Amino acid sequence: MGDAAPCGDGDAAPTRAGGVRRVAVVGAGAAGLVTAKNLREEGLRAVVFEAAPQVGGTWDIANANSSMYTNLRTNLPDCVMEYPDFPFRAQQYGVPDSSFPSHTAVQHYLLDYAAAHDLMPLVRLNTAVQYAGPLPGGKWSLRTVSTLETSADVAQAQIEEFDALVVCNGHYTVPKMPSDTEIPGLSSFAGLLMHSHSYKSAHDLFRSERAGAQSAPKRVVLLGAGNSGIDIAIEIAQAFPAAEVVLSHRKCKGNASQAQLLTYGSGPKQVRLRERREIVRVDGTDWRTVHFADDVGAMQDVDAILLCTGYHYAFPFLSPEAGVDWQSEPGCVTPLYKHVFCIPRPSVAFVGLPWKVAPFPLFYFQSRWIAAVFSGRAVLPSQSEMHADREREQQLREGDMGLPRRYMHMLEQRQWEYNRVVADLAHVPPDAPVRRAIYADCAAARRHDPVAYRRRKYIPLGLHERDFRVLVDSN
Ligand code: FAD
Repeated sequence: MGDAAPCGDGDAAPTRAGGVRRVAVVGAGAAGLVTAKNLREEGLRAVVFEAAPQVGGTWDIANANSSMYTNLRTNLPDCVMEYPDFPFRAQQYGVPDSSFPSHTAVQHYLLDYAAAHDLMPLVRLNTAVQYAGPLPGGKWSLRTVSTLETSADVAQAQIEEFDALVVCNGHYTVPKMPSDTEIPGLSSFAGLLMHSHSYKSAHDLFRSERAGAQSAPKRVVLLGAGNSGIDIAIEIAQAFPAAEVVLSHRKCKGNASQAQLLTYGSGPKQVRLRERREIVRVDGTDWRTVHFADDVGAMQDVDAILLCTGYHYAFPFLSPEAGVDWQSEPGCVTPLYKHVFCIPRPSVAFVGLPWKVAPFPLFYFQSRWIAAVFSGRAVLPSQSEMHADREREQQLREGDMGLPRRYMHMLEQRQWEYNRVVADLAHVPPDAPVRRAIYADCAAARRHDPVAYRRRKYIPLGLHERDFRVLVDSN
């Protein structure tokens, strides 16, 4: 293949990334699996490198980097989560009364997907990509190592060449930890300080930290009221009914209303919301006093602070010559065309950067587009047009929508239009309208009652309709 033909500013010629034959895919999680399948369907040869001993990524709880906790159930219904080309019904995985199965069911679904499409021959397990960089002439050089070997065997690293690279390494493994500049005294906190990435269960949390003794906490503060923050707060409150559990977070419309309702819904009564208050300082003679932003009162004798503060994008294997900057600004991977193609070098593409989305359908459409472009069935616009598109998008986000820059890849309501545009660019049929309708219903139900919403079972009435039925399990 050639790499993208160089197009100067103002060049209106389309950018060609087509003619690719052999594609390296980094990661065999939900993004990497569907990418492998779609590349192969376009006649391309995919080699998927997976550092872990199994496919599934974060849904494989045995994966050392998994961010799942023991009792996690999905926060999206099965019929919204599924890949558009492979139905997912919780009842097939032993959950008859609800559409929100455990992480184990999702992992089984992904294994079934890999088996149904015969993807395992494309995957090299226990193989980590250490380096990926462009070569003169447009190909990519990858250095991989076996994760089964010890560091003394690094000399056994393999070097291979590919025509193109798709990055599917996930973005829930490098925790965002507030610094002592952001929260003075945090690192001196004398209780248990942990990021949600390391959280497995409420009981494990306190047992492991107190030398085997099960010591019930009296006060726990969670910072961050996203899905994980809310779920973990509820779990801790249920496990330790005498404890005071405080959910502290920044002012943020969606989460505020969801968290606020915790105290009124069917949530444990002691989940008390410190609305719009983030932790601003930690001090006290015993370093266990937590102060909140509006100074309505500090909380003393705090046993644990759980940081549900999200994750960083990280591509440590990607050479700077790839032309992708992910380190200058938190939350920004740039310069990309529609969150996927590196504009100056479109032979590298990313699947799964957007957040606040239904991930699997988005992975499906992004990877269909990548496969179409790499096979030459679809063509990208000129580089100047892609840059202009990116600037328009940035203007819309930062200007009209008033979003901070670190929200560069947050889609939320716009995900459906995004998926439609990407499907269009890939020349494939758009997604089923019922998915959007159920997603909206589920979001409203979750806001209304973040505990009871998982008793719902969604039944789509037809893929081409918006209609669905909801059964609510009253037990
Ligand atoms: P991952 O699953 O992280 O997979 C990336 C893979 O890349 C891993 O297997 C990793 O080992 C591999 N890898 C990384 N670097 C390298 C390297 N250098 N070389 C080789 N291999 C490498 N989504 C939903 O749809 N519904 C939910 O209910 C839901 N709940 C969630 C709850 C939590 C706590 C979290 C953290 C996420 C949740 N998600 C949910 C989002 C979830 O992350 C996505 O559904 C999806 O699994 C992400 O897939 P991925 O392939 O992008 O990343």
